Amino acid sequence: MNRYDLHCHSTASDGVFSPTEVVATAVEAGINVLALTDHDTTDGLEEARQAADLHNISLINGLEISVSWFSYNVHIVGLGVDLHSEPLQKGLQKIRDFRAWRAEEIGRRLRRDAGIEGAYEGAKSFSNGQSIGRGHFARHLISIGVEPDYSKVFKRYLVRGKPGYVPGEWAELSEAVNWINQAGGQAVIAHPARYKMSRKKLCQLLVEFRELGGAALEVVSGTYSKDDIFNMANLAIKYELLASAGSDYHAPGNWSDFGKLPNIPDNCKPIWHDWPTEQAIGDN
Ligand code: AMP
Ligand code: MN
Ligand code: MN
Ligand code: MN
Repeated sequence: MNRYDLHCHSTASDGVFSPTEVVATAVEAGINVLALTDHDTTDGLEEARQAADLHNISLINGLEISVSWFSYNVHIVGLGVDLHSEPLQKGLQKIRDFRAWRAEEIGRRLRRDAGIEGAYEGAKSFSNGQSIGRGHFARHLISIGVEPDYSKVFKRYLVRGKPGYVPGEWAELSEAVNWINQAGGQAVIAHPARYKMSRKKLCQLLVEFRELGGAALEVVSGTYSKDDIFNMANLAIKYELLASAGSDYHAPGNWSDFGKLPNIPDNCKPIWHDWPTEQAIGDN
């Protein structure tokens, strides 16, 4: 039986391991179909593919696009995209340009409103020359002893209403879904149970997403409770979306480790039901 993990991060965005190390870690945990889904970039995928080939596992070309939807920051995972798609790469570049400005602005605000000097430079030193995100600021602030862990540092400095929060001007939902579809991929709403959204709003998101051509919902995600899985499975069925599963692995213990995801409930149709990775099993 294949073991899938369709959401994780490397040093191409805010993960702590290189794509090669991420693949090796996933393989060690028994994953044999892996999607690397870095934030707003496909830069880690070439390296990941070489590692996946060496380990003889399937690598799905993935990414996680930052989207602004009403006042919410929603994440859309793309799976199976063509890396050379022009609309996709142009769109991602636009988001990364915003990220570059935003990182400097986070640094300015942390200085102005929290009295913390040098946060931008500190975050940059954790970013491996890639786009800087809040995860890099979190790592820097932990390293200088401001707070002991991610959860505390986000809560105090990096979430809405706190000094280091800069409202995003991310892609529109329609743009993200279109870029993914134009690149031949499937669009997935990442970690839907994690958004601080009313049920009504979440349902509105699912309706819009499906109408735009979105394919799936992360019914299983690294941080979900049993109830979350049950609720998301029911929503996937109700709105006729496929079900995806991913740890959102960033680092050991940051969201979830590889190999620990529960199965997708039987009443859902997995996003991989018609993938070649499944047919390979049938052929054997
Ligand atoms: P950004 O895309 O720069 O806004 O950063 C979003 C990333 O920050 C997410 O993908 C997570 O990696 C991380 N993050 C957000 N909230 C938390 C949290 N409460 N605890 C740990 N990591 C978080
Ligand atoms: Mn992240
Ligand atoms: Mn996310
Ligand atoms: Mn993620």
